[in-house]
Amino acid sequence: MVKLDLRGRDITDEDIIKVMGEIPREEFMPLSYHSQAYSDGPLPIGMGQTISQPYIVALMTQALKLRPDCEVLEIGTGSGYQTAVLSRLVKKVYTIERFNELSETAQAVLARLGFANIEFFIGDGSRGWPGKMRFDRIILTAAIPKMPESLLGELKAGGLYVAPVGEGGSQRLVLGEKKPVGCTESFICDVRFVKLVGQFAYEE
Ligand code: SAH
Repeated sequence: MVKLDLRGRDITDEDIIKVMGEIPREEFMPLSYHSQAYSDGPLPIGMGQTISQPYIVALMTQALKLRPDCEVLEIGTGSGYQTAVLSRLVKKVYTIERFNELSETAQAVLARLGFANIEFFIGDGSRGWPGKMRFDRIILTAAIPKMPESLLGELKAGGLYVAPVGEGGSQRLVLGEKKPVGCTESFICDVRFVKLVGQFAYEE
């Protein structure tokens, strides 16, 4: 996976390559898919959701230009694999998942593997983290029609976000930067993600 799908493509951040080489991806998926754990594709994790393709996890993580002192908000915990990758690269990860079942499974796996700098919340991530928090980075691992103000309001000035944005079956993966007024967005590539379902996202 590291040789072909990360180094073999445009993943050049050695910290990300190291971390993804160390985290056992099979631990984040049902037993029946373990033999495919290092193939470069999404796989079912239950509740109609998927664990993201390793290359896309690496690409989104690389786009965020993480620093060790970053506090990161992740919307869509899912399997917890992306959470694990982030957790090894930053100070703290705050992650929101709408399905109890997925969050609890992810929490159990991450605890068993010794990931400690993560806070979990079960609820609608399109509304942001409950309470008054400001993050250095925000990552959305499900598709949204448009980056909502509720999330932009929780991003520090100069902070970055990465999100699959757009209507329909495929989306544009964008890197956004919060400016003193508004934000700028640049296109990374076309992607296909499950939908973010919530108040400021898609309807059920
Ligand atoms: N990074 C995860 C991706 C999981 S798919 C992984 O690699 O495993 C996206 C996840 O977003 C799903 O688990 C889905 O249930 C969750 N999701 C969808 N809408 C949400 C919302 N409004 N708030 C929080 N999580 C949401």
